Order: sequence, then structure tokens, then C-alpha cells
Amino acid sequence: MIKYRIGSRHPQAHYFDLSIEVPEPDPEGQVFSLPTWIPGSYMIRDFAKNIVDLQARCNGEKLEITQLDKSRWQAKACQGALILEYRVYAWDLSVRGAHLDTTHGFFNGTSVFMSFAGFEELPCELQIERPEHEDCADWRLATTMLRKDDQQQLGDFSFGPFKAPNYQELIDHPVEMGLFVQDHFEASGVRHDLILTGRFNCDLERLKQDLIRICEYQITLFGTPAPMPQYMFLTMVVGDGYGGLEHRNSTSLMCSRKQLPVPGMAGLNDDYRGFLGLCSHEYFHSWNVKRIRPEVLLSPDLSSETYTPLLWAFEGITSYYDDLCLLRSGCIDIDDYLDLLGQTMTRVQRGLGRHRQSAAESSFNAWTKFYKQDENAANAIVSYYAKGALIALAIDLRIRDVTNNRKSLDDVMRMLWQRYQQDGGGVDDQTIQQCVSKVAGADLEEELNQWIYQPGDIPLQQLLEPFGISIHYRSRSNLQDKGGKQAEEQLPVSLGAVVREEHSRLKIVSVEEGGSAQSANLSAGDEMVAINGLRASQSMLDALIKISMPGDIWRLSVFRRDELMEFQLKLLSAKADTVFLTVEDPDQAMLKQWINS
Ligand code: ZN
Repeated sequence: MIKYRIGSRHPQAHYFDLSIEVPEPDPEGQVFSLPTWIPGSYMIRDFAKNIVDLQARCNGEKLEITQLDKSRWQAKACQGALILEYRVYAWDLSVRGAHLDTTHGFFNGTSVFMSFAGFEELPCELQIERPEHEDCADWRLATTMLRKDDQQQLGDFSFGPFKAPNYQELIDHPVEMGLFVQDHFEASGVRHDLILTGRFNCDLERLKQDLIRICEYQITLFGTPAPMPQYMFLTMVVGDGYGGLEHRNSTSLMCSRKQLPVPGMAGLNDDYRGFLGLCSHEYFHSWNVKRIRPEVLLSPDLSSETYTPLLWAFEGITSYYDDLCLLRSGCIDIDDYLDLLGQTMTRVQRGLGRHRQSAAESSFNAWTKFYKQDENAANAIVSYYAKGALIALAIDLRIRDVTNNRKSLDDVMRMLWQRYQQDGGGVDDQTIQQCVSKVAGADLEEELNQWIYQPGDIPLQQLLEPFGISIHYRSRSNLQDKGGKQAEEQLPVSLGAVVREEHSRLKIVSVEEGGSAQSANLSAGDEMVAINGLRASQSMLDALIKISMPGDIWRLSVFRRDELMEFQLKLLSAKADTVFLTVEDPDQAMLKQWINS
């Protein structure tokens, strides 16, 4: 049994204080380490950089520690229990790290808990203490980590002792502490807690009713009972932020205040729809990636990258279902759904990278490309989320096509779920293709491999036709157009660049290969100062582009670094790279079966 203790003597300095006891350390000298990445977020983050004041003791004596690499140490051999003490600087307000001040605390185990070589499977005991500060006196604590006394698990928000059967589980229950708003609901007999931290005005009842529908639908989709004994939506509400990370019995979310439903809100706006989509996405991960997992992620090496070509399935299929579940559970209607699908298609369509990188390559290179996107990303890579969602859609429609709509991707997901329940094994590169073929009763492996392992477009129009859905391409209606909807007016020309205004400075964020901006020698990072001799701003650019015609030439004054330069921008015709979908008859039988499954 490894005994962990976490508290804070100085929350205002953003330090968590850790103390760990290893009763029988390695007699050769105990090696210990902190993860370099957190499962679910495929980037090396080197959490050990936040450790200070690391010390070891044995039998009351100070013990020498040797650092082995950036996140690994070895304590000198000793007879008796090893006591490790250190502090973790926690000032990363994201779902992936740790954050602490006098208003709240949050941590992922990966940011704070060392693991001990050879003892990763030992049970762990964890004491979480209230930070020692007067502002923390009334704090409560929310986590799905098992309480040491099983009896007080549900609805208990006190500090105290917890336990985990091994290290992997110890780091899979994030902890929120503070003066949060808490509410709960039942979905398929399982208690779900809603924990909201921050300043906001939220119609909790509305949010709960929508979440009940989403959670119950997903549990029914995979089959009752639900796999989790309880579930928590740990949500940090901020002025401007967005993100989520999945865990086995909870999710950490960050959202903007405007994404929550205010009391009296009629209907559903895009912001709240986005938040429900995020909740739906992370909840779907409770099955797809937290339990049905790629083989290499069953017990991943947290000291370096774990490569898999399968993120298209774990993020892509999840992205396909997140919005589809909103539709099937009645939170949105078919027009909303087609709007969202059109936006996903637009995102893929606008990047030339879709011709260069396959969804499998995008998955494999997540560590260095998708998670480290630079200004050339749209030209070089494709998102395994967006492209993966389109592959999932294509698979679903293809199975429906060959089985006369009797079978679908739902059956594949249930098959994968049953496989997991039988042996807990992982998914390899061909498992999903094989399950699809089995469900469809036809060999579709080669076709699927083409979509997954080759760059380029998927024949979605052909697959959507039997459902009475048509794909349409148009040019942008304005520079902010995300697609998904029809548009009366369209821009005649294309800038060939993404431009953003920040602090009254209009900057080129990215340049499209072969587009107007690149042909004019403009670059990402250039600050547009004037166009045709007039001060450049977002609103001026928005107005000017509307009345420009192909072949027009703009005189651009630009700062590249601190050097003023002049460029002649010859505007090319707008591309039809914006997608929207239309449906012939919402009551068509095939369509109804797909969206009502
Ligand atoms: Zn995800």
C-alpha cells in the first residue's frame, strides 16, 4: 500500500504539498517518476517541471536523491519506509493540469502523484486535506475517487481519506475543491453530479433535464446497466475558454459563461448547443476510449509518446456521436444537426492538408502535429476529430446501405463494448474494420482502409443520397462564416488567408497554399496596417471584401516583424469550400430510422 497525502500550506502561492510513504521501497534504491503526459491529451507536457523542494527521508534521516532524467529520480537504498516530500506549483487553468489559489483548487493525479517503479499495481491510499488558509474554511471537495469508507461515497463532498486499487486508477479521478455549486440527477439509476466552479448565471434545472436525456440515451445505446457506478461533470466556468477531458467516471470541462443556459432562455442558442455537444462528447468517451481502448493504451507508458493510428476512431467516432446523440435524445432537431454536420464538413473541406495526410497518419502524429499546430497546419494536416467523424458517418451509412438499414454503426459499438466486457482486451488496427464487416455481413475492410489510411475525400454525397440528404458547396458569405447554413449573399473573392484582429491589430494567422495572399508574398504573422492607403481593421476588411471582384488589386501596407512593407494583393475568385446540407423529406423512412435509432 502506497500512502499519498496532498494538502496546501500556501494556496495563495499556488503550491500543493505532497507527502508519500512507500512502506517497503526497492532495496537497490527506489526509482520514482511523474508522468510526462495525461491520457486523453496526446502531447508531452512534462508535469515534473512544476516540482520544487523534493526531499526523501528514511527512519527520520534525510536520504540522498539522484535525478535520472527530466521526470525520474532514484532515492538511495534504505532499510525502512521511504518518505517522499515535494511541492507542486499549480497554476495551469486547464482540464489537463493543476490549479490552485484561494478561490478553488483542481488537480489531475498526473500532475501531482509520483509513481514508484515496480509498485504501479499496489493499492493506494490518499488523504486529501483542506488547504491551510482562512478563505478555504468552507471548501468542499468533489471527485469520483473511491472514499476509503465505501459507505459514504455518494453525495459526500467532504475532505478525507480515499483509495485506489492501483496507480492507473489513482490518476484517473480528477479532484475539484472550493465553493462550487453542486446539483445531481439520476440517469438509468446512476447518480450523476454536476459541479460548477466560477462566476455564472445558470438555469440548473434546464441543464439537468438536457443532460438526463443525453446520458440516458447513451446508456441505452450501449445497453444497461451503465458501466460507471457514479459520474461527475466537473465544470470550470470562465469568461472565455473551452475544453474537456474524459475520465472513467467523470469528466473535467471548461466552458465560457455564455455557454450555460440562463434562466428563462427560450430555445437553444449556438453557445449552449456547443456546451451540450461537449458534455455529450466526453460522456461518450466513458465507453469509447476509457473502456473500449486501443491495445497500446491499455497500460500506456506515461514517460514518453504512445503512438496509435486509431485516434480517428476514438476521437472521430466520438465526435460523430456527440452531435448525433443530441439529435436522437431530442435536444436538437434535424436542421440543427445538419448545420453541425455541415460545419464539420466545412472544416475538413477548407484544409489542403486533407489531400496530404490520412486520418490514421493524423492520429499517429497527434503528439507533434495535431497538438502542436502552427500557421501551416491547414495546408499540411487533417484533424482526426473532424475527418474521423466523417469516416464514422460514412461507415454508419455504408452499413445501413448494405443491410437495408437493419444494422448500423450502433451495432458495431455494441459489439466492441461486448468484446471489452468479455475480456477487457484492446482494439488493434483492424478490429473495427473486422467488426464492421461482421455487422454488415459483407467484407468492407478494403473500402474502410481506403478511407482511414489514404488521404483524400470520402464519397459522402453518394452515401447520403438514399436518406434524401444533399451536400451543397458555396463560397463564404463573410470572413467569419463557419458553414452549415445556406447563404443568400456570397463573397465573390477569396483572401486566401485567415485574419484575426487582436488589441486593434489586424494580423494574418495563416496563409492558404496557392491562394491570393500567398501569391502576393504575404505571410502568417504579417500585421496589416493599411489597405489602399486606409487604416486596416476587421470591419474595414469585412466591408471591402464584399465589394471586391476577382482580379482587383489591393495595395497592402504590412508590418513583417518591425519592417514596413508594401504588397500588391491580386484577389482570386472565391472557392466553393463552404458546405451545407439539405433534406428532401424529414419524414423519409430511411432517414427517420437513422436519426431515431
Ligand atoms: Zn474526445
